[in-house]
Amino acid sequence: MFNSSKKIAVYPGSFDPLTNGHLDIIHRASKLFDHLIVGVLTNSAKSPIFTKEERVELIRKCTSEYENVEVKMFDGLLVDFVRENKAVAIIKGLRAVSDYEYELQMAALNKHIDHEIETVFLMADIQNSFLSSSIVKELAKNGGNIKGLVPDKIIDDIMKKMY
Ligand code: ADP
Repeated sequence: MFNSSKKIAVYPGSFDPLTNGHLDIIHRASKLFDHLIVGVLTNSAKSPIFTKEERVELIRKCTSEYENVEVKMFDGLLVDFVRENKAVAIIKGLRAVSDYEYELQMAALNKHIDHEIETVFLMADIQNSFLSSSIVKELAKNGGNIKGLVPDKIIDDIMKKMY
């Protein structure tokens, strides 16, 4: 039967900080779903430079023109966050084969926990395929130019944090 309810997706990540690669995925996913929730988490394997609140703020600054994009922070299991928000899908960006193996494992795990939740993979735009938050931080820390790698609006925020 036709289900007219809104299709909500969650795009999770640490976004430390947001890059143009992330923003491209947000842009594309916002066209595929009625509502997109960017879920900001702290990956226990990484020590972030920006606090969760700061990361949320940077993403909000760059997504304010998207009416169907919302930014939230979360802890704990991704699947629980997805369920709480009544989302039907998890969005992941894939850059290279190296992303694939880990993401395949996570997608299978999440499917095991909740069979109803789909993981939707979007291929990174070719010009963003080398881009990661770590590369941006490394470049900024060493006096490199991060223009073109992150939204212009947040370049100053990132540079301020580095020095
Ligand atoms: P990182 O950027 O350090 O890999 P994140 O946790 O912030 O880590 O990434 C969040 C999501 O965004 C992941 O699904 C990741 O694969 C995706 N992603 C990261 N960088 C890019 C990029 N350049 N293009 C497309 N997707 C990306």
